[in-house]
Amino acid sequence: MSSLTMVKVTNIWTAVREDPGINCCSEVHIEANLPFRYRVDTAPRLVRVYVLGATANLPEGKILVRDGLVGQIEVRNYGGQVEVEISLEHRSTADILWTRPQMPARLTLRFDRQFLRVLFGDKVVVIDPGHGGRDFGYRGPVNLWEKDVVRHTAHRLADILGRCGSTVVFTRSGDETVPEKRRIACARENGAHVFVSLHTHWSANPRVSGPAVLFNPLGPGSEEMASLVSAALVEKVRLRPRRSRADPFLRLLGPVPGLLVEVVTISDWVEEGLLRSSRFHQKVAEGIFNGLKDYYCKTRGRG
Ligand SMILES: [Zn+2]
Repeated sequence: MSSLTMVKVTNIWTAVREDPGINCCSEVHIEANLPFRYRVDTAPRLVRVYVLGATANLPEGKILVRDGLVGQIEVRNYGGQVEVEISLEHRSTADILWTRPQMPARLTLRFDRQFLRVLFGDKVVVIDPGHGGRDFGYRGPVNLWEKDVVRHTAHRLADILGRCGSTVVFTRSGDETVPEKRRIACARENGAHVFVSLHTHWSANPRVSGPAVLFNPLGPGSEEMASLVSAALVEKVRLRPRRSRADPFLRLLGPVPGLLVEVVTISDWVEEGLLRSSRFHQKVAEGIFNGLKDYYCKTRGRG
């Protein structure tokens, strides 16, 4: 085969898709310079796509996805073909279709995210964007205010949970002052399965940085949830976490499981800068969601 007609896999990317008329799904797209022949092997939680007579025109190795269903994708050149191994975190069925038969050719695998609806569909999540109104929270060195940045993360998190069928309630919808007691009452009145308060940390010590996940010591499972959320958050944002601990404000929740996520340390120049990126807010939201998902998976059937 001449190099002109050799198939080159040029790009592999993923997206979570929710359009009217189709179930919410995770998509994996495999693009090449030409339409290609392929073979698919499936096993529980694993799908391998072999692109035949092809080479990978992208780096071999692992791509971390963690979108709630697709865990990672590994790309390998292997005996004149490209192997794309998709690891799933849960069982799912895949539809395989050409979404772009012309050049560049694109094969799309569409994985049903129904399992996440089973896991989250019955959950009420109260999201508490910290501060607001006259209460500005902490300020970063280049003038970002905590009360503003946490709202961005809150909306991203609500979007992800909403797509999984959760009922999401905000303790504040705009820039209003909300007393702590009102926030707590919101969780209790709505029968929250979990209360997630969003904040940033601040420190006069320039060496202090990173996120931390605090928990309600009176809420069953909250400590375990905090440690899973912290791990999943760090996996997404790639910052070194600070230590998890019990939080006095969250005690007011009584038996309602609760977390207080300090998404970054806003006094750190670099971390304040991250808050200007909408991609970063998305990553934080995905991290928190993944941690909650890990917790609900683990405790499923524990009664
Ligand atoms: Zn705060």
